[in-house]
Amino acid sequence: METKNATVSKPRRLSMEGLRRTISDISLELSKETIDAAAQQLPRISEVEDASCECCGLYEECTPDYINQVRDKFSGKLVCGLCAEAINEETQKNGGKRKKL
Ligand SMILES: [Zn+2]
Repeated sequence: METKNATVSKPRRLSMEGLRRTISDISLELSKETIDAAAQQLPRISEVEDASCECCGLYEECTPDYINQVRDKFSGKLVCGLCAEAINEETQKNGGKRKKL
């Protein structure tokens, strides 16, 4: 009886190992895809585009992320670094309050 149980449980253990191997194969494949996706996102982040300052008209090379940050900060206006500094100075003079556009 006990020897029979041992022979029955043996193939089950083997199939479990096979399943575990499949899972590790899948997770290996997944992590590879994650790395691929991250690598694909890298050139998109470093990509720059010409943007003109809405204040003085100066052209600057900006990443889309930077443009979004500036627009967030200055009520949807895209300004160059110089104008951004000037605006910050002006807002500090006004007690840190900025006119809403
Ligand atoms: Zn400017």
